Amino acid sequence: MSQRHEVERDEDSIRKALSCNQCGEVMRECTTVVECMHTFCRACLDKFVQEGSRDNRCPKCLSPLGIDPYGTSEVRFDHQLNAIVLKIFPRDSDAQMMADREERENSQREASLMRSNSGRCVSEIGQ
Ligand SMILES: [Zn+2]
Ligand SMILES: [Zn+2]
Repeated sequence: MSQRHEVERDEDSIRKALSCNQCGEVMRECTTVVECMHTFCRACLDKFVQEGSRDNRCPKCLSPLGIDPYGTSEVRFDHQLNAIVLKIFPRDSDAQMMADREERENSQREASLMRSNSGRCVSEIGQ
């Protein structure tokens, strides 16, 4: 029982570490402000960043981001972090897509297996 609790606590701390500083949910399309290393969902940060505005700031600590944060790499998409998030907290739709694909591949494999089996039967009968 105590083991189960530890796992839950672990997952909780991982979840916190991978949470958006803006919405508090597990990040989607992890985006890091290079200056302060605060991380947000791309969608959340987008709400605060206006291209061409001189007043772009990190929503968390108000670090200035410059006039074109995405263009000047003041803000960057964090591929590594994003991969971790997707691995630990897969999107439901992604998981569903994977399950669907697996099911499709399995049924295709079965169908081709049946075809090759019946083919062998026919040739064996023919001999
Ligand atoms: Zn967010
Ligand atoms: Zn910040």
